[in-house]
Amino acid sequence: MELRKKILEMAKRSYEEALFAGTSGNLSYYDRETGEMYITPSSVPYETMTADELVRMTLDGQILEGEKKPSSEWRMHAEVYRQKPEVSAVIHTHSPYATSFAVNHQKLPVILIEMVPFLGGDVDVADFAIPGTVEVGIEAVKKLQDRHACLMANHGVLAVGKDLEQAHIRAVYVEDAAKIYSLALSNGDVKVIDSQHVNYMKNR
Ligand code: 13P
Ligand code: ZN
Repeated sequence: MELRKKILEMAKRSYEEALFAGTSGNLSYYDRETGEMYITPSSVPYETMTADELVRMTLDGQILEGEKKPSSEWRMHAEVYRQKPEVSAVIHTHSPYATSFAVNHQKLPVILIEMVPFLGGDVDVADFAIPGTVEVGIEAVKKLQDRHACLMANHGVLAVGKDLEQAHIRAVYVEDAAKIYSLALSNGDVKVIDSQHVNYMKNR
């Protein structure tokens, strides 16, 4: 499938899954061969978004194609691609359970086995940075060492992957873990997975 169509479908899907609410969140793909990033446009409703509204641009902000403004978080996406050479897709959500822990500045400990293969372990909270600045990306990258996702203080979630599917499923698992963690906390005492078991699973 053509890249633009794939990105658009993933954005609409993420909206339907409630990873995005309103026009919040954004999604990008970086073609490392051409040095071009495709990113969702800023403040465009996902229901009506079209493939030609995706913006093609360079990591330093030069617009190559697109009538719309790129996502206001394009600097964050660009910073992740600059610092993490294994990453070619980035998704940023405001998914509610995960974002609620971002508001508490509370990381998600390893409470579920899937968190090890899908997320690389626990999900830490990146320090707050003003939306739209490169600092959002700089803070997130600090929490993406050996991890595939992080929370962003008082803001949302960032998940990365080698392709769109991988970044997306990781964002899904962050929200799933946060939801289950929230329920478990309301049930009573939460037991995290022993770090020995986590290390064993990581090295397997
Ligand atoms: P954009 O619509 O500009 O992508 O902004 C959404 C968002 O989540 C800002 O952090
Ligand atoms: Zn946001």
